[in-house]
Amino acid sequence: MREQVASLILLKQKATVAMALSLANDKNLSLKVKNREIEQDYYKNLIQNLTQETLYKNIWIQLFDEDINTLYRSWSHKHGDNLSNMRADLRRVARDKKVIYSISAAKFNLSLKAMVPLFIKDEFIGIVEVISHFNSISKELKKSDIDSVVVLNKEYTKQLEEPFTKLFIGEYYIANFDAPKELMEIMQRDSVESYFTKEHKIVDDMVVSSYELKGADGNLFGHYVMFKKIDSISSLDLEYFMFKWLTFGIVFVMSITILVSTMLFFANRRQKEYFYNIINSSTNIVVVSDTRSIIYANEMFFKYFSRYKTLQEFKQNHKSISEFFVKEEAYLQVDMNGVGWVLYMIENSKELHKVKLDIFGKVYCFSIGASKLSGANNHYAVVLSDITEQEIYKKELELLSTTDELTNIGNRRYFERKLKEEISRASRYNYPFSLVMFDIDHFKAVNDNYGHAIGDEVLKEYSRLVDSHLREADLLCRVGGEEFMVILPYTQKDHAKEIAEKLRTKIESHKKIISITMSFGVVEFEKDDDFESIYKRVDDALYSAKRNGRNMVIVG
Ligand code: GH3
Ligand code: MG
Ligand code: MG
Repeated sequence: MREQVASLILLKQKATVAMALSLANDKNLSLKVKNREIEQDYYKNLIQNLTQETLYKNIWIQLFDEDINTLYRSWSHKHGDNLSNMRADLRRVARDKKVIYSISAAKFNLSLKAMVPLFIKDEFIGIVEVISHFNSISKELKKSDIDSVVVLNKEYTKQLEEPFTKLFIGEYYIANFDAPKELMEIMQRDSVESYFTKEHKIVDDMVVSSYELKGADGNLFGHYVMFKKIDSISSLDLEYFMFKWLTFGIVFVMSITILVSTMLFFANRRQKEYFYNIINSSTNIVVVSDTRSIIYANEMFFKYFSRYKTLQEFKQNHKSISEFFVKEEAYLQVDMNGVGWVLYMIENSKELHKVKLDIFGKVYCFSIGASKLSGANNHYAVVLSDITEQEIYKKELELLSTTDELTNIGNRRYFERKLKEEISRASRYNYPFSLVMFDIDHFKAVNDNYGHAIGDEVLKEYSRLVDSHLREADLLCRVGGEEFMVILPYTQKDHAKEIAEKLRTKIESHKKIISITMSFGVVEFEKDDDFESIYKRVDDALYSAKRNGRNMVIVG
């Protein structure tokens, strides 16, 4: 969740910048700022269009002259005041003539901001600022059942003159409208600070994760706290999240290519400089090619291909970045059904694409997009955005949701999923499998005599032992306190009985920590068995092993 929200925030920041940049690129706007003739309605309409056409439902625009006097505010009719004393970020834009985008806390809210200098020819004439909020990010996350509470750091609370959401947990301001009341209450119950942790933690039945919201100068303005019900974590769901995330990415690729075309083919010298700056400070790899070879690569490109200092050097050794593609299903390949990869992406620009690159032994995953550049023939931009962390994280989350914390073997949820899969495979292809259920004998006495901690050690030790005696394809899960199941694919009940008998004797003679024994029930899948019926049969077999004196295997 943390990495995903980080990407969403970054993407939103960049899209906010892209919006500010396209405004700044509008000659009309610059002229109007220079002549101080801002028409209120023009921008109202513009914002209306943007909110209808994009993911951004709440954006605000502010225009300044070269001395940081306000010329226009989309949320109020008040203007004419000077903000140069109040806003260090605006002073910096006016001084350095560079784009700034960051998170900041101000009078109304914790928000995302982009400030872009305006020029006519090379003359600096003012600043356009685009402000957006966290609500749309929270809404995106909500679609994959992640609830969020965006918390402003305590020290900025007094700075709020008109808190936008009016939501608070004690002294903490909450910056997103859709923060659920129950979660805010839970956070209050446990102390809000305890949620500002870098580790994932489990609270009630939820996985909780938090992400630091830092400004351009590194100030810690707040935390993005995310909650997801453990039950709702499934691989399908994760796929869906990646999908949402990547669609967001596609919008971003579009806006980057507008930037690149502006930089390469249109902008005057001054503008060109700061377009270069933005594209270079981008955390994405941006590459421009004509039909024959790469003609531009940004600085990030050389952070990954660090073996080369210049594009020249890279080109002496490689024709294209496609030489680094890893051949793996679900990732982009050089040849896509007979079409070259770039053309393929341009033709399928509404689809998401992922690519795996092996860059001299280090493997990265990227979301990747390509667009044809306007302003020149057959030039296209390729934008790669690193999602290695997300892919690793996705795997971790999958593991977290399927693994039993104490013993590190599969948990009950995983067992249920796998047994259902096994049943449908076995019924379809008519092959055998067996199910073994086992339970520690007189385990209550172990806890009573040695304590719960020793009891836990016994569970760990003996599940390791059992696991070490199973085949690769067999699946061991802990389905209850001291109850286990093994799914034995392609195994008939006689063989399953032998396996269970072997496990029983290994356990009996192991004698580590303390001596224990276990009772086993064994059944083979029968035609017409469903989840409930096979479960009941194996449970009954185990029960008769218990009733008949324990430490034995009964086949049902
Ligand atoms: P039986 O031979 O009939 O199975 O007797 P038993 O004492 O093992 O009875 P039962 O299976 O009903 O008892 C389960 C006991 O296992 C209850 C509880 O004290 C203990 N237990 C369940 N989960 C855990 C756990 O996670 N850790 C520890 N230490 N003990 C557990
Ligand atoms: Mg028991
Ligand atoms: Mg039991």
